[in-house]
Amino acid sequence: MIKPIIKDQFFLKIKSVDATIEDKEVIQNLKDTLKAHKKECVGMAANMIGVNKNIIAIQEKNLYVMINPVIKERFGLPYDTEEGCLSLKGARATKRYNKITVTYLDENFRPKTKTAVGFEAQIIQHEIDHLNGIII
Ligand SMILES: [Zn+2]
Repeated sequence: MIKPIIKDQFFLKIKSVDATIEDKEVIQNLKDTLKAHKKECVGMAANMIGVNKNIIAIQEKNLYVMINPVIKERFGLPYDTEEGCLSLKGARATKRYNKITVTYLDENFRPKTKTAVGFEAQIIQHEIDHLNGIII
């Protein structure tokens, strides 16, 4: 089900907690909502649809979900960039790493490890920041 996008900064600054198998509906809603915003949005965190759980959805070549993602390694030095966010107005300056390794559970709650680079790595870092209550 497509959910409205939360813009309340106070709510978005609350740190999310780990998701469980009980959160399947949240996962589906997050995917549906990201799909609905495909043209202007490449990633979404569950708190952006009002649920403080550690779930993010990434729209890269395919749309995929990361549950309870944790950045295990950041490679090299961060670079300066600018990002926009559906929950915020305009673009803001931030620092990102070009390459990261992340552990997470996939949609079927199977443990996975992913090394992402470039734009995909940037999206993942932005969405994991959301889970930690950090908005650019
Ligand atoms: Zn955002």
